[in-house]
Amino acid sequence: MQRRQLVQGLFAGGTLAALGGCASMGGAPSSAKVVVVGGGYGGATAARYVRLFSDRSIDVVLVEPNRSFVSCPISNLVVGGARQLGDITVPYDGLRTQGVTVVHDTVASFDLAGKKVRLAGGPEIRYDKLVLSPGVDMMFDGVEGLRQAQADGMVLQAWKAGPETVALHRQLVAMPDGGVYAITIPEAPYRCPPGPYERASVVAAYLKAHKPKSKVLILDANPDVTSKGPLFKKAWTELYGSMVEYRAQHKAVAVDAKAKTIKFDVQDDVKADVLNVLPPMRAGMIAVQSGLANANARWCQVNYQTFESTAAKDVYVLGDAIQIAPAMPKSGHMANGHAKVAAAAIVAELKGWDTNATPMLTNTCYSFVSPAEVIHVASVHEYVAAEKTFKIVAGSGGVSAARSTQEANYAHSWARNIWADMLG
Ligand SMILES: Cc1cc2nc3c(=O)[nH]c(=O)nc-3n(C[C@H](O)[C@H](O)[C@H](O)COP(=O)(O)OP(=O)(O)OC[C@H]3O[C@@H](n4cnc5c(N)ncnc54)[C@H](O)[C@@H]3O)c2cc1C
Repeated sequence: MQRRQLVQGLFAGGTLAALGGCASMGGAPSSAKVVVVGGGYGGATAARYVRLFSDRSIDVVLVEPNRSFVSCPISNLVVGGARQLGDITVPYDGLRTQGVTVVHDTVASFDLAGKKVRLAGGPEIRYDKLVLSPGVDMMFDGVEGLRQAQADGMVLQAWKAGPETVALHRQLVAMPDGGVYAITIPEAPYRCPPGPYERASVVAAYLKAHKPKSKVLILDANPDVTSKGPLFKKAWTELYGSMVEYRAQHKAVAVDAKAKTIKFDVQDDVKADVLNVLPPMRAGMIAVQSGLANANARWCQVNYQTFESTAAKDVYVLGDAIQIAPAMPKSGHMANGHAKVAAAAIVAELKGWDTNATPMLTNTCYSFVSPAEVIHVASVHEYVAAEKTFKIVAGSGGVSAARSTQEANYAHSWARNIWADMLG
């Protein structure tokens, strides 16, 4: 048997761990103190901060299929043609410099009792603490016809930044002047409350500049704009006039990709040239499949003091995948904060230190209402031990007084700073 075949056989059988020790074959060690699943806003931050808080004394393995991190924040500017995908792409090299072992693979399953993760590529990695930040899974079956329409590239979401972000921009470029772009928004909670309204705004900016006879339809399952409503509505009226139309209480239930039509539970069908249909969302697939999504089989319930799962000991869930505390948005900024609280709790437990009894979180979400002008919402959240949840600190945060170019500078700085904070 050739050596290559032997190695493949070992990987296929998942017997690498049985070889013992921390032998690194195919880039995946057989064990680590902390294994992090998902290298996005939550996971990358957790990997880096376990290293930092432990003074680089705790082994961390990060498993992430993508070769580079691509940011959802700022990705709407790529949809609108004001930025390129390269502008929102960051390599994982900084994490490697911090001593994190980055394995480019997908976690296929967990053995929660045996404390092991199994990679799609074959090997298993044993852990003492597992961190899970897999983001969201699109519930395509919540909108009839959408799974096939998306597989055919006809109806896109671009709600995970990457090639689909560019593909959606190309659909806008191909749309005739006088065409209609329609975005549907699922009932909250979903990833990034202001994100769909930001997208509609920057698409309108693109159309105003390149195809001024066109229209942007925002078809919202919610009773009103879910974030920064008055600021968005003012911007739509003042910047785009009748080009942008907002319709509340429009819950998409089916798409007909050939007829380019969206059907709603109550309202009349809508025909559009570019259909950007966002289905309901839930925790990333691996969380649902492994039984960790124990809130309505949709989101992962955690102990908010540490972000440890209520379904499994020594498993910590972060970011969009969790069942949120009151007024906690599913945002990258929040995921970054969850990760720091969890990393501190994990390092404290592994070192025998006290766990922080009153963690705090902050959130700022900037939204582009055009490529040049931005609005924000901010909040501070404190852990209230008596109620075992996070609550907004009274009097904290708020929204912009008005949209401004100054806040566009802040938004780009926010992005550069958080990418550096996550990825080193
Ligand atoms: C258009 C848009 C605009 C946004 N704008 C903002 C903004 O301005 N500010 C803000 O704070 N937030 C914003 N967000 C929200 C933000 O992107 C998310 O809240 C954030 O990405 C959540 O972080 P996460 O770690 O939960 O998930 P992600 O960042 O999506 O990371 C999940 C990672 O897990 C990996 N993964 C999944 N399954 C597996 C598996 N089985 N094995 C290994 N890896 C796996 C994925 O490849 C992915 O890299 C925006 C979102 C969108 C879509």
